Amino acid sequence: SAKGNDIYKSLLHQAEVQGVSNDLQIVKTGCFGFCEKGPIVKVLPDEAFYVEVKPDDAEEIISENIVKGRMVDRLLYKEEGKKDFKPENIKFYQKQERIVLRNCGLIDPESIDEYIARDGYMGLEKALFELTPEQILDELNKSGLRGRGGAGFPTGLKWSFTQRIESDQKYVVCNADEGDPGAYMDRATLEGDPHSVIEAMTIAGKCVGADKGAIYIRAEYPLAIKRLEIAMDQARERGLLGDNILGTDFSFDLEIRLGAGAFVCGEETALLASIEGKRGMPIPKPPFPAAKGLFGKPTVINNVETYANIPVIISKGGDWFAQFGTEKSKGTKVFALTGKIKNSGLIEVPMGITLREIVFDIGGGIPGGKKFKAVQTGGPSGGVLTEDFLDTPIDFDSLISVGSMMGSGGMIVMDEDDCMVDVAKFYLDFCVEESCGKCAPCRIGTKKLYEILDKISKGKGDIEDLQKMKDMGQAMKKASLCGLGQTAPNPVLSVLNAFEDEVLEHIHNGK
Ligand code: SF4
Repeated sequence: SAKGNDIYKSLLHQAEVQGVSNDLQIVKTGCFGFCEKGPIVKVLPDEAFYVEVKPDDAEEIISENIVKGRMVDRLLYKEEGKKDFKPENIKFYQKQERIVLRNCGLIDPESIDEYIARDGYMGLEKALFELTPEQILDELNKSGLRGRGGAGFPTGLKWSFTQRIESDQKYVVCNADEGDPGAYMDRATLEGDPHSVIEAMTIAGKCVGADKGAIYIRAEYPLAIKRLEIAMDQARERGLLGDNILGTDFSFDLEIRLGAGAFVCGEETALLASIEGKRGMPIPKPPFPAAKGLFGKPTVINNVETYANIPVIISKGGDWFAQFGTEKSKGTKVFALTGKIKNSGLIEVPMGITLREIVFDIGGGIPGGKKFKAVQTGGPSGGVLTEDFLDTPIDFDSLISVGSMMGSGGMIVMDEDDCMVDVAKFYLDFCVEESCGKCAPCRIGTKKLYEILDKISKGKGDIEDLQKMKDMGQAMKKASLCGLGQTAPNPVLSVLNAFEDEVLEHIHNGK
């Protein structure tokens, strides 16, 4: 950010003024997650951790840590009256487990050497020299990794479909078309650790027998695009991408394709159509992309977070990964924690953690002494979780069983002041705008649902509207062509389910 750049320049300047430029390295990194308290400056090796840093703080940071020749724990961070402590004592990080974000905030994302220094490209080396494609699949299956884009399909199984098919051409595609309101997990991962995705896609190429890949990323993410381009160039220079990778007979290369910001292009068949230069509209499945994807060829497609897990699964083994999480949802999940929460930020937690732990331990609770009301998970495809579900484990199946879904990882917290009809209206408005219009249940259903909600929110609704919305929502779920229309009614249905009294109050009180 501009603020970060000013702090960076100010630190460089102070290092020079204090004559210690040669004694330290000042490195720009990706996001360290604690957005609420950013910008952050971390001092290694002692891990002094400065938050809410301003350019003027540079003099103090440099003199405290370098000029006096010691690393001290004096921090700018203040919580519950404490002034001095280390990051491991900061509640925001205590229950987190960083696998996907293992390098974010710790390395310079524009340096392949820093990635390699933290065991980067070890997974690829192992995939090339020690494992057969079947053994790569075995590790993925053992890990239990499920797709992090929302649906939670087992990744090893998905890759095995493509691997088994004989074809003159196969592709590997990365879905970086993150578009849920409030979600920025993929952007932060690509900005903070682009090599992890490049390495994973190359491993996928080796596993399924593909020699080409594409990263489909929205054009609104210029820094992520720039860092990906730099990382791809560096990987090619080191022989880690391109022809005859690391001297083997395996070749694989990647290109970046820019999306124009249509939410529906996050749906895999629409995304592939968009890469092919066609209008980004979904087509019915089957056939699935694993068998007939990009340009009609077998294609592995996963999102950024799924790929970012893979290099460590291959280098450390599937069993290592499977120790995290629950029986059916292994590993971790990255969430963008936002809304009415003290510690907003990007968090990575083991699957199975409860909503209470996320909201109150990591998030620090609700600001201003207000009461917790609900959390929206899964963005426009998800639903609301009320106080009754604070102890529900966060994993794929538990969330579905309580009427929400994991989605890609947006988590928006609401307090007692938030109107749930407005919340449902906000998400529907988003879906009205983003519906591609190809099929009637979604094109007409989203508009009609929005009109009814709008009427209710203006105090002009009537009691029959409730049943109408439920029936319409169920019909959309059954008859819409793609996930957008099938899940668009979810926020409305879950509000009707959990907050019917509040909706009725609008109807009865006429406001
Ligand atoms: Fe388009 Fe909506 Fe139909 Fe999907 S469900 S194809 S977004 S109109």
